[in-house]
Amino acid sequence: MSSRLVLVINCGSSSIKFALRREGDSQPLISGLAEQLESPSACLHWKAGSLKQTRELPGADHQTALTALLPLIGEHADQPLSAVGHRVVHGGEHFTGASLIDEQVLQAIEASAPLAPLHNPANLIGIRAAMLVFDQVPHTAIFDTAFHQSMPPHAYRYALPENLYREQGVRRYGFHGTSHRYVSRQASLLLGKPSGSGAWLTAHLGNGCSSCAILDDHSLDTSMGLTPLEGLVMGTRSGDVDPNLYAHLHRALGWDIPRIENLLNRESGLLGLSGLSNDMRTLEEAHKQGHAGATLAIEVFCYRLARSLAGLTAALPRLDGLIFTGGIGENSPLIRAKTVAHLQVLGLSVDPAANQQLPRGQAGQIQQAGSPAILVIPTDEERQIADESLALLDAPGA
Ligand code: ADP
Repeated sequence: MSSRLVLVINCGSSSIKFALRREGDSQPLISGLAEQLESPSACLHWKAGSLKQTRELPGADHQTALTALLPLIGEHADQPLSAVGHRVVHGGEHFTGASLIDEQVLQAIEASAPLAPLHNPANLIGIRAAMLVFDQVPHTAIFDTAFHQSMPPHAYRYALPENLYREQGVRRYGFHGTSHRYVSRQASLLLGKPSGSGAWLTAHLGNGCSSCAILDDHSLDTSMGLTPLEGLVMGTRSGDVDPNLYAHLHRALGWDIPRIENLLNRESGLLGLSGLSNDMRTLEEAHKQGHAGATLAIEVFCYRLARSLAGLTAALPRLDGLIFTGGIGENSPLIRAKTVAHLQVLGLSVDPAANQQLPRGQAGQIQQAGSPAILVIPTDEERQIADESLALLDAPGA
């Protein structure tokens, strides 16, 4: 029998990203995006090989969009699907790995919804719709938080009273787990180590950004916390601020909680610092033209990232390598060089030519001789979701 097929689904409140993956392949057979769902301009875009197509689906909801996917998947699948793998943002403390979805799992995802009110309800809508449309196939849930469930209490507890942890689940969870795990596994392959072994620092730098300390395929600490706001400077998110900022803005400006939440999540980060854009490409261009805000945003971004990475070394017994990934990490020699320049204390140094010349989209090493490895590894969360879904089906008792 040929290698198994997995349909990977990532549902947002008004969008569905999907990819049909064949076990062991590096590229999907077909992938795409249904967007602006439940609006007159809802549409489905997809790509198979080099062919890109779009179909309008005015007013389509999640289920209609998934039903529209059925014939497309049928066209590209030469055998029945083995699994449908769903990305779920928050698994709370319920999930330490991938799970086969049943009613109990759906309820547990629902129970974690107060911790991710924007994401989990949308993930659930997608799962329920997909279970109706693909009703003969096992469905699996892969959680952004699950990889970080290996963090020890001294890394995941806030210095807050115990009852807030016990009764409200107030603790650090971490996100982007699928990506951190994927790139650290790829790094061990790249350096010829046994699969999943090694002591790594990872920097996932996309619109959301997080860093992680990983030892032998286990997350030991990460920069995001109860929610994906904690930690690094991001596209529009502030990352760490003094927690008293809420009280200060309320007293000084009369701002209420939604106003401050909006500030910290949508108006801050690279956008707030630069006054220009949340997009690193735009900021790099503006920086070259001498735009002071763009320069400041880049400097703060890199310094705060380096500070986080240096802090995370406290979780590791040694350092086998630093890994850059995500749209910025994979594509920006400037950000990689500026960040590593703050990490001399760890013996890290970038080879300028290797850093500049690494082809986009390719994995490679960019350190100077004598430095611990510095790797650039394109992330592939869909591939990791497909692999974890199949591993779950292969597990005894599945
Ligand atoms: P998401 O978190 O939405 O998946 P991505 O991983 O695609 O985001 O990362 C988006 C970020 O990557 C944006 O800030 C974008 O400007 C940045 N980026 C993409 N290509 C480049 C590039 N060539 N140079 C610098 N930044 C880049």
